[in-house]
Amino acid sequence: MARAVLALAGGVGGAKLVLGLSRLLPPEALTVVVNTGDDETFHGLHVSPDLDTVTYTLAGLANPETGWGVQGETFQAAAVLERLGAETWFRLGDRDLALHLRRTELLRAGWTLSEVTRELCQRLGVAHAVVPMSDQPVRTVALTDEGELAFQVYFVRRRCEPRLLGLRFDGVERAEPAPAFRQALVYARALVYCPSNPLVSLGPILALPGVREQVERFPGPRVAVSPIVGGQAIKGPAAKMFAELGEAPSCVAVARRLRGLCDVFVLDQVDAARAEEVADLGMRPLVVPTLMASEADKVQLARRVLEVAEAA
Ligand code: GDP
Repeated sequence: MARAVLALAGGVGGAKLVLGLSRLLPPEALTVVVNTGDDETFHGLHVSPDLDTVTYTLAGLANPETGWGVQGETFQAAAVLERLGAETWFRLGDRDLALHLRRTELLRAGWTLSEVTRELCQRLGVAHAVVPMSDQPVRTVALTDEGELAFQVYFVRRRCEPRLLGLRFDGVERAEPAPAFRQALVYARALVYCPSNPLVSLGPILALPGVREQVERFPGPRVAVSPIVGGQAIKGPAAKMFAELGEAPSCVAVARRLRGLCDVFVLDQVDAARAEEVADLGMRPLVVPTLMASEADKVQLARRVLEVAEAA
């Protein structure tokens, strides 16, 4: 269990498995690399939704109802901002705003996003390493039947209603994997793909220059957990996005995207009949319950993932 694990994550689905992993692994044995393609500027502040979801979850501050945002949140600042004519479709709570203020302050003082994230995590009592995928900006753009939409406009403002025609990760070719990500790609003993949206959470991470090649060469076991269960996303637009991009949403569609990049593919028991198709893609299928409702579920799934990584 003490092997160093590199976990790749987006927000809500990723944070669930990350919480389980954090309960089983000491801080020095886990590096969580988080998508920043969803980052956006609101009210002049740098907001990193996926980093924040992972950080709040590990800090024990996450809102258990939504899986994102802070528990016990209030929205007084948002109400005033609205009155002052600001756009408030991206709802930032009062406590949450404090984090974005501090992040922005430190970024403006010349800190990298990695350094800022380490500082915020330390201050909030998060001991495991949470790392942005890159210190350079990468911005996911949704190409839709209503034109090009910045990711949060598509996702939050337009509630993923426009038909998706494609995705672009602006800036990705000029971005580098963050230093701690580069190190983990070399020194980690196992790689875990959390059950995050393969298109807009894991997609940007794998699109960073050199990452796909390094993951291909990664010497240890690579284990993925499917975010698509019974052809549906548990939450969020992953299934709709797959369908609009011309692929029937299923755990097999997820596995197909990880071909050559994954050794063990964890699929839910309701998808047991698809195990053979996963095997045909060159991955060992592992069929287990993957719904993480309680903390016990998260720890249990994390334990299965680590066990299979040990054995691979
Ligand atoms: P986002 O950036 O906040 O959308 O978060 P992620 O990309 O990390 O996670 C979204 C994905 O998590 C969705 O496709 C969900 O289907 C998946 N997900 C959420 N909860 C669970 C769960 O309990 N089990 C599994 N297997 N997937 C989940």
